[in-house]
Amino acid sequence: MVPGRRFRAYTAKHLDQLTTRAGLGAEDRLAVRAVATVLPFRVNEYVIESLIDWDAAPDDPIYRLVFPQPDMLPAADVNWIGSLLAGGAPEDEVRDAAHAVRTRLNPHPAGQLALNIPDLGDEPLPGVQHKYPETVLIFPRQGQTCHAYCTYCFRWAQFVDEPDLKIATDDMARVSAYLRQHPEVTSVLITGGDPMIMSAAVLRRYIEPLLDPGLTHIESVRIGTKSLGYWPQRFVTDPDADDTLQLFEQVIATGKNLAVMSHFSHPRELESSLLADAVRRIHSTGAVIRTQAPLIRSINDDAETWARMWRTQVRMGMVPYYMFVERDTGPQGYFAVPLARGYQIFRDAYAGVSGLCRTVRGPSMSATPGKVCVDGIVDIAGEKAFALHMIQARNPDLVGKPFYARFDPAAIWLSDLEPAFSTRFPFEPYPDEFPGLWEEEALVS
Ligand code: SF4
Repeated sequence: MVPGRRFRAYTAKHLDQLTTRAGLGAEDRLAVRAVATVLPFRVNEYVIESLIDWDAAPDDPIYRLVFPQPDMLPAADVNWIGSLLAGGAPEDEVRDAAHAVRTRLNPHPAGQLALNIPDLGDEPLPGVQHKYPETVLIFPRQGQTCHAYCTYCFRWAQFVDEPDLKIATDDMARVSAYLRQHPEVTSVLITGGDPMIMSAAVLRRYIEPLLDPGLTHIESVRIGTKSLGYWPQRFVTDPDADDTLQLFEQVIATGKNLAVMSHFSHPRELESSLLADAVRRIHSTGAVIRTQAPLIRSINDDAETWARMWRTQVRMGMVPYYMFVERDTGPQGYFAVPLARGYQIFRDAYAGVSGLCRTVRGPSMSATPGKVCVDGIVDIAGEKAFALHMIQARNPDLVGKPFYARFDPAAIWLSDLEPAFSTRFPFEPYPDEFPGLWEEEALVS
């Protein structure tokens, strides 16, 4: 495609045409439409024409990254919604059915709605999450879409037509007031969706207040984005690309760190010359690019894929940061890689790269008590166990301290694990301090 082309999104109404191009038969195409009625679908011309290998579709990893799969949800649900669509059921009936399926998919994992929303005065501060003392997350109202949607997205509830499931704010005056009252906060993450979907002018409305002299305790501003993978034009040829970079320079000029937390799922996303230009231009502002992604079955679940990603990222000046475990929401059962296998993939990839790539941590579960990293599989006094530690924790005392769980080759999430060499996990003795924590966990980012 021509690099300077304007952004154009493809949505569910284009699905039949696109899945025909992938060679799907009528039954599978209907099942894909049924899945896309429950979970969000959106892709763009760059992903379609420059990233997907259509000769390999529907097995191509980038195709699988953005196109719903016919068997991603329970067969009974897919058949139910498929039959409504095929029978021309009224819109209301289809919407109610989709809503019923969504409510079974744990739309807000890790207690995001119940546990992480702070208060300002006596009122909650919606669109903000404060889970760890030093970090606050802001969800800008205009940033709750992406240039394309990942099939495995743990924030899928942000993109479906259900206002009650959304987290968002546009009230930076209240957010700033909250931050002024919390000098322990040193880092703000602007997240979504994808904040880089916003124009430079709108992004500025969220970033500039953080540069206020009253907020010198904010040392770093992070922007969580997949735009480098899905739409690198955002930093190169889009009409406001230069304004965006100027905004980045403005952040750096205040002495703060600006980190572009870039989500790359597969090495192919790193191959385009547009991406190379975008990375160079971002680096020229003084911003740092850190990279992260979840480990996903059938998209990136092998060590060579990760080693290649990390090596390429380091060659381009980016900093590998996280390998995540697929979170406990949406189609987790479909995409999850067991923790034991995930650890092996991480270790094999880590062992095959230079020390410069070993800034990466993982595999890490963003769970209700914090970020739990699988450090290894050990044999202690004849008992096989997972060695774990918390990279981040609601209770900072627990950060960095090792603990163990009984080995279970099928476990895919923290809630599947049982403590080993102890009667409880270290984060369990605090139910009074964090009411509801274990009820949330049992439901099961
Ligand atoms: S880019 Fe991030 S927020 Fe957007 S769909 Fe993918 S995982 Fe979800």
